[in-house]
Amino acid sequence: MADYLESVRRAGGEPHELDQHRDAPADVVKRSGGLLLTGGGDVDPGLYGEAPHPTYQPSEEGRDAYEIALLRAAAEAGLPIFAICRGMQVLNVAFGGTLLQDIPSMVNGAAHHTVPEPRYAIAHEVWVASGSRLSEIMAEKLEGETCQVNSRHHQAVKIVAPGWEVSGTAPDGVIEAIEQPGQPFRLAVQWHPENFWRTGEFRPLFESFIEAARAVTR
Ligand code: MN
Repeated sequence: MADYLESVRRAGGEPHELDQHRDAPADVVKRSGGLLLTGGGDVDPGLYGEAPHPTYQPSEEGRDAYEIALLRAAAEAGLPIFAICRGMQVLNVAFGGTLLQDIPSMVNGAAHHTVPEPRYAIAHEVWVASGSRLSEIMAEKLEGETCQVNSRHHQAVKIVAPGWEVSGTAPDGVIEAIEQPGQPFRLAVQWHPENFWRTGEFRPLFESFIEAARAVTR
C-alpha cells in the first residue's frame, strides 16, 4: 500500500484509504476527486459466468462487491478512474467484460507475468497503441511505442468491457492496458506503476490522474 500512497502524493494528490465496512460508495464519490483501485487476489469468476480455474485465489470477503459498487458509483459521478492489476480486472468485470483465468496454463508461449521480486524488476515490454490516451500521457517516457514493465499477475482481461479499448499489449498477446475513450481519465493497467515512484518511469500516469481529479467540478 505504501507505494500507491507515495505515488499519489508525489503527483500532488491526497490519498484516502477506503474501508469497505465504513466507506459507502455513494459517500466516497461525493467527497473524492477520483478512484484508484489497487492490486490483490482474483475476482470471483461467477461474476462473469465462469467456473473457477484450479488456481483461483479469492480476494478478501466482500471486496469484489465493494469495488464493483465503487466503480459504478464513480463512473456515474463522472470521476476519473485509475485501476491497477487486480483493479483492472475487477473494473473490466464491473463494466461487463470477462477474464482469462490463468495465463501460464492458458496462453501458449506466455511471457513471465509473475515476477514477484524485486517489485520494480522489469518482466516484459508493453506495446502501447498509437493514438491512445496511454500513449499520449506516456509520450515522453516511451521507447518508440513500447514501455518496460514489471508483472505480478496470473490473470488478465479476456473480453474487454463494452465501451473500453485495449491500449497496451504484451508481446504474447496478453492485454496490459485498457481505457475508455472520451473520458477525462479512465485508464487501467495490468502492471504495477506505483512501484516505480523512486525512479519516476510512470509518474505521468499518476500526474495525469491527479490533474483529472482536480478538474472535477460539482
Ligand atoms: Mn504482465
